[in-house]
Amino acid sequence: MDLKQYVTTVENWPKEGISFKDITTIMDNGPAFKYAADEIVKFAKEVGAEIIVGPEARGFIIGCPVAYALEIGFAPVRKEGKLPRDVVRVEYGLEYGTDVLTMHKDAVKPGQKVLIVDDLLATGGTVDATIQLVEKLGGVVSGCAFIIELEELHGRDKIGKYPIKTLITY
Ligand code: 5GP
Repeated sequence: MDLKQYVTTVENWPKEGISFKDITTIMDNGPAFKYAADEIVKFAKEVGAEIIVGPEARGFIIGCPVAYALEIGFAPVRKEGKLPRDVVRVEYGLEYGTDVLTMHKDAVKPGQKVLIVDDLLATGGTVDATIQLVEKLGGVVSGCAFIIELEELHGRDKIGKYPIKTLITY
């Protein structure tokens, strides 16, 4: 399937100069959404994933159907203050300033093989912080999968030592 035709590019959103890739037009199309999830399921099987980890909010949307299909668990990565129990935290750099991502301390077990899933790889800051969280818990990152990769931002360079799967590139 040519999945790219279902992505909507929104110019100058959320701010001037940004060309935003909107994946809601993949999600609202049954066959396209299923195809995207199925492709990531194949990769998850290849890398032997035992749990899916996804950052809020679009990582939940694509990560959960993958976990469901494989009958494995899903663990959420959230902004600080959103998870109710003890968390590990990682501060990571944004274009201006920093942000914090957290995971529950017991979300991933030591030695468990993790596939990180998100909708889009841009600079790689989000996935890099997510990898750090998983590794703080003793998890083994067996791969990272995204629907979209923005190649010009070189996010792949940050996570080069892990197997990577992307379905669409710009
Ligand atoms: P990074 O941390 O790699 O720079 O940015 C990736 C994160 O920002 C992902 O969690 C993704 O959801 C979000 N993101 C950044 N740009 C876009 C975009 O153009 N479209 C979508 N759907 N998400 C984006």
